[in-house]
Amino acid sequence: MSFTHRCWAEIDLDALRGNLAWLRYRIGPQKKILTVVKADAYGHGLRQVAALLMQAGTDIFGVANLQEARDIRSVGRGFPILMLGACLPDEVETAVKDNVMPTLSTIAEARAFSATAARLGKSVQAHLKVDTGMGRLGAPVDAVPKLLAAVDRLPHLRVTGLYTHYAAAEDDAAYSRRQRRAFEKLVQQLARDGRGFDFIHANNSAALLHEPDAMCNLARPGLLVYGVLPPGRRRAPALLKRHLRPALSLKCRVALVKTIEPGASLSYGRSFVASRRMRVATLTAGYGDGYLRSGSGSARVLVGGRLCSVLGRITMDQLMVDVSRVRAQPGDEAVLIGKQGRAEITAQQLAQWCGTVPWEILTAITYRVPRLYCGGSAA
Ligand SMILES: *Cc1c(COP(=O)(O)O)cnc(C)c1O
Repeated sequence: MSFTHRCWAEIDLDALRGNLAWLRYRIGPQKKILTVVKADAYGHGLRQVAALLMQAGTDIFGVANLQEARDIRSVGRGFPILMLGACLPDEVETAVKDNVMPTLSTIAEARAFSATAARLGKSVQAHLKVDTGMGRLGAPVDAVPKLLAAVDRLPHLRVTGLYTHYAAAEDDAAYSRRQRRAFEKLVQQLARDGRGFDFIHANNSAALLHEPDAMCNLARPGLLVYGVLPPGRRRAPALLKRHLRPALSLKCRVALVKTIEPGASLSYGRSFVASRRMRVATLTAGYGDGYLRSGSGSARVLVGGRLCSVLGRITMDQLMVDVSRVRAQPGDEAVLIGKQGRAEITAQQLAQWCGTVPWEILTAITYRVPRLYCGGSAA
């Protein structure tokens, strides 16, 4: 084909490999690691990322649906997969057949899995989730001992993992401590009753940075694997910035450069009106690529190695930036996330400009944007 891309993502597999290696070093040799690859591996491309993480030594994968589990299996067999959401009633059979470990919160779910496994002549390993304050999934802490005793009596089902999820590990130290203490107490109580687990886990990326995890033997990071720091009031240790590298860059091109006069307005809704003569570049990306419209008037883009302000509304396929102070011409590369020269825009920074979180920035990148891989050895 004799054309290039208009908007694309570059995924550095060596960065992913380095991030996983560093996280393993940080959690220590006694603990295992579950890498979260839901939502197309946070927009990085599930198959390629899963293959790389298998080579780089992940122990378990975390997914949000059964198709993701199948995509993982299509590039490598035998890796345990934990479904992080609750399975729908009509998903139970496929989960059992595909050997995907479910997350259980209720006896009804456990019974459905046990019965389905019996019918299929299989046995299911499951993780039981404890709600220590997230309020989304999991059994209330006090209800867990009785629930577990009941689940343990079901045939064809074995609870091999116990876990919980922090609601505000990046912001709220006191609340996180309460969640952690409640979980610790439960784990200790169950241990006194002789009930141990192969896997005990709680720590997402923010908790890995901020919460002790003595009672856990499995870490459960997503965002950090991709080299992006969770934002929040609790400050991440500075050394992280040196050891983790963002794996994804998002780029587009300058399609047109023009000069506008004072009083000229730009884009839909005319939210921007020029107060001076300025040079404006039209770029080949928009919200149809996942560059969020909420960045209109606040986001910045790298052109010519400098930060250039987004002017007016971001449209579906194009956006405009102020290039008055840089050299720019049609065909030039523009960086929406990533480095250009010595300047860098992180997903976290773009999220701030858009009034959202880096998780949404990454998973918003649409199907239209080709993912180009470099480094490592992809599937
Ligand atoms: C998504 C998810 C994670 C990973 O969260 P990060 O903040 O990206 O590290 C961990 N645990 C559960 C249950 C999740 O749903």
